[in-house]
Amino acid sequence: MVSRVIPVAAFDLVLFGATGDLAARKILPSLFHRFKIGQMPPEGRIIGAARSAMDTAAFRALAKSSLNSAVPKAAKSDIAAFLKLLDYVRIDAMGDAGWKTLAKKLRKDAVRVFYLSVGPTLFSPIASGLKTAGLITPESRIVVEKPFGHDLASATALNRDLGACFKESQIYRIDHYLGKETVQNLMALRFANALFEPLWNSQHIDHVQITVAESLGVAGRGEYYERAGALRDMVQNHLMQLLCLTAMEPPSRFEPNAVRDEKLKVIRALDPVPPERIVRGQYRKGNGGDSFADEVGNPDSRSESFVAMKVQVSNWRWAGTPFYLRTGKKLRHRLSEIAIVFRDPPHSIFPAMENRRGNALIIRLQPDEGITLRMTIKDPGPGGMRLTEVPLDMTFAEALGADIVMPDAYERLIMDVVRGDQTLFMRGDEVEAAWEWIDPLTAAWAESSEKPAPYDAGGSGPEDALMLLHRDGRRWREIGQ
Ligand code: NAP
Repeated sequence: MVSRVIPVAAFDLVLFGATGDLAARKILPSLFHRFKIGQMPPEGRIIGAARSAMDTAAFRALAKSSLNSAVPKAAKSDIAAFLKLLDYVRIDAMGDAGWKTLAKKLRKDAVRVFYLSVGPTLFSPIASGLKTAGLITPESRIVVEKPFGHDLASATALNRDLGACFKESQIYRIDHYLGKETVQNLMALRFANALFEPLWNSQHIDHVQITVAESLGVAGRGEYYERAGALRDMVQNHLMQLLCLTAMEPPSRFEPNAVRDEKLKVIRALDPVPPERIVRGQYRKGNGGDSFADEVGNPDSRSESFVAMKVQVSNWRWAGTPFYLRTGKKLRHRLSEIAIVFRDPPHSIFPAMENRRGNALIIRLQPDEGITLRMTIKDPGPGGMRLTEVPLDMTFAEALGADIVMPDAYERLIMDVVRGDQTLFMRGDEVEAAWEWIDPLTAAWAESSEKPAPYDAGGSGPEDALMLLHRDGRRWREIGQ
């Protein structure tokens, strides 16, 4: 089976921050893949924008070297054809120079995508620069990278600034987790099959675990992590979005506002988290690596590189089924997954099984996207009725064709922006509601004299995080299981 490619309309994509890390590693390679596959029209154009003094030829040379590292197997001729779509304009987002040059480069009738791959302090100045220069047409969209604010007040201010220049229907707040194939498959699984939805509630689901584990440390972004911490950097956006998609009610239509309305209702149904239900940790020196405090350059750092929490969604569907969230750096493996752990059968007619874990639906986002259903079956062979647990692979590679290529999340999301589809992007009120829930937690930590619990690099996080589940008679899935 070959995946279908539906070409998008002609567009001009202005990439602010074109000389930066994200542009080199993700955005330009994603656009290249879409170009190569035939989704990007030949008249599509990518106009890099940054302060660095360079001409279009120099920008193309820079992009070529990024693509050579990001897509080493790409044919030289494909890269050469793609580079022809690239242009460059020198703009200082904080100044007046460059906007007129940009205006001359934009076509009147094409869709305009302004992609802000720059630090968050530049989001508002660039939006207002675009407005002042008269560059915002009805067919314009603005894409804003994370972080979207660092608390409710800053997110509200940013929403207000963007809203003064763009309509909400033109604003795309990106969370690349939502562009992952399996995240969308979670919606297909739930809402396109009658099988799971009757079980999708507290009567049948014992608990849900959402894990986003990273094996790397702060990797050169120490200053940012010291300021943000894992709760703001990961939970407020990625983990809460995964929680919303898992817990939301079926929307009446698969349409951006219908989906986002349901996600918003989940955030609004979250109980406040008392201090005993949240654990923060910080990796210490060891395993040949520095501590978090060393890496961020602050020996007294009180920022968390790990968070685990027990969350309750207070509504009819989920009362009594906790959601356990955890995320951290320098853990055993890089792994992101949602595990839906079902309740045991009400009565067992079989001999007790050692180490029984029960039915679970595992939605794995990385490293290898896929869905498995853990089933209990009879252990094959003679010797009586012994049971065993096996994963049922629901990736369906055989049925769909092993050669099917999963596009990177950024590829899908950028094409959705061009098409004007906001389903996989966060709405302003969603982001604000998420901060409203997070703010009391960060405020309580700021007032507390307690430091985050230390944990070893290469492990599963602090002991207290294990206790969070042990107390409830449950256990975390192994990271890397
Ligand atoms: P970066 O490597 O520091 O790049 C920043 C870019 O902004 C550079 O191209 C820089 O170019 C440009 N810039 C800085 N000041 C400017 C100004 N006054 N006017 C115009 N351009 C200016 O940052 P990044 O890692 O690519 O991250 C970009 C955004 O994506 C950030 O919001 C970040 O939080 C977010 N993000 C990044 C990652 C990642 O993996 N890197 C992941 C998720 C989200 P000049 O110096 O030439 O102006």
